Amino acid sequence: MKDFRQRELVERARLVIPNGMYGHESVASLPAGFPQFFSRADGASIWDADGNKFVDLMCAYGPNLLGYGNAGVEWAAERQRALGDTSTGPSEIMVKLAEDFVAMIDHADWAMFCKNGTDATSMAMVTARAYRGRRKILLARGAYHGAAPWNTPGLAGIVAEDRAHVIYFDYNDLNSLADAIRGHEGDIAGIFATPFRHEAFANQTEPSLEYAQGVRRVCDELDALLVVDEVRAGFRLSRDCTWSLLGVRPDLSCWGKVLGNGYPISALLGAEKARIAAGSIYATGSFWFSAVPMAAAVETLRQVRETDYLERLTDMALRFRAGVAVQAATYGFGVMQTGPAQMTQILFEDDADLRRGFHWVREALEGGLYLHPWHNMFFCSAMTEADLEVSLTATDRAFAALKAVGGKLPAQDNAAILTRIARMAKSAA
Ligand code: PMP
Repeated sequence: MKDFRQRELVERARLVIPNGMYGHESVASLPAGFPQFFSRADGASIWDADGNKFVDLMCAYGPNLLGYGNAGVEWAAERQRALGDTSTGPSEIMVKLAEDFVAMIDHADWAMFCKNGTDATSMAMVTARAYRGRRKILLARGAYHGAAPWNTPGLAGIVAEDRAHVIYFDYNDLNSLADAIRGHEGDIAGIFATPFRHEAFANQTEPSLEYAQGVRRVCDELDALLVVDEVRAGFRLSRDCTWSLLGVRPDLSCWGKVLGNGYPISALLGAEKARIAAGSIYATGSFWFSAVPMAAAVETLRQVRETDYLERLTDMALRFRAGVAVQAATYGFGVMQTGPAQMTQILFEDDADLRRGFHWVREALEGGLYLHPWHNMFFCSAMTEADLEVSLTATDRAFAALKAVGGKLPAQDNAAILTRIARMAKSAA
C-alpha cells in the first residue's frame, strides 16, 4: 500500500495539530498503517491520501447512510447553495425540514436543529432539567452521549462538579435503575437511553422489551423525560425511532450523523409535553440555521421515507455477517459479531489485548476493506454486489493471514488502546 503522501501529511500535522489529530477520527488507537488522511469518498468507498481505495464499513462513523455523494442529496444541497447558506436568518427550508421530520417520527411534535450529536444530547439534557426544574440526569454506565463536560468519557479538564447531578446505572437492568433513583425521586429530570447497547471495546446487546418499557414507566411515574439518543443508530434499523420497534415512545429524541447524509446537521425532537421546556432554554449557534445542510436533510428524509434504502443496507449487512461467520468457522476462529448486523461489532474471542482483531483488520485493509477493531461499524445503502465481494474476499484473506501466523502473533503496537480501555473503564466506574 502506498503511503508516501500519508507520511508527509502526518508529519506536517504533528507540528500544527495537538498529537497530530484528536477525537474519534484519530488513528492513534488503530493498528499501525491505518491511513489518517483521505482524499475522496464515493458510494460505499473511500480513498486515502495516496489514492488507496477501500470499501468503507465505518461510513464516517455513521453519517454516510445513502452513499457518499448521493446524487439526490448533492443536488438538493447544490440547489440551496446557489440561493444561500449561512445568513442573517434561517431559510424557509427549516420549516419544511421540521414539518417533514415531525411527520415521520411518531413521538415528535416539534423539532430544533443544531450541528453535532453532542449539541442535541446537551439540549435534551438542559430541556429535561427545565421541564420540571429538576437536576438529576440518569445515564447508563459506559454509554456514549457526546463530548461535553457532562458526558465525555475523557476526563482531562473535567471536574467533579460537571457531573455532580449525573447518576449512572447499568443498561438493561431495572434494579440498577431503581437503585440509582432511590433517594432522588423528586429531583429526577431525565433518563437517557441509547436504542441498544453500542459501546466501544465490548459486545453489543439489545435491550429487553421489559427494560425499554420499564424505563418508560419509571419516567411516567416520576414525571421525568425519557430521552432516546438516536445519534448513532438513527434510521439504520427503523424509519422511526428505534424503540418504536419495541412500542416505546420517548419524550425527546436526539438525532445527528445520518440526518444530512454527511452534511453537518443534528436535531432534538420532542413530544408536546416538552415543548414549553424546550422553548425556554437558551440554545443557539452561528451555524445552526445554515440552509444547505437543511436542504440535504430534507432530501435524506425523503429517501428514508420513499426508497428501499433500509432493506438494501440490511440485506448487505446480513450477507456480510453470514459470510464472516462461515469464514471464521472454516479457519477455526471464535468471532463474536454482536448487535444489529447493520451496525455490527466484530471482536475475537480470547483477545483481551485485541491482538488478533488488530491483525485481522490490518490484513483486511491490505485487501481493500476498511474495518474497525473495537468500534461498531455501519452499512450504507450504496454498497454494491461488487463491494460485498471485495469485502468478503478481504476478510477471507485476513482470516487466512491470521491462521498463517498461528499462535505466534506478536504483541502489537496497541499499548495506546489498552491504556485507553483502562481509562474508559475507570471513567465509567
Ligand atoms: N450520542 C451517540 C449515541 C453517539 O454515538 C455520538 C457520536 N458517536 C454522539 C451522541 C455525539 O455525536 P457527535 O460526535 O456528532 O457530537
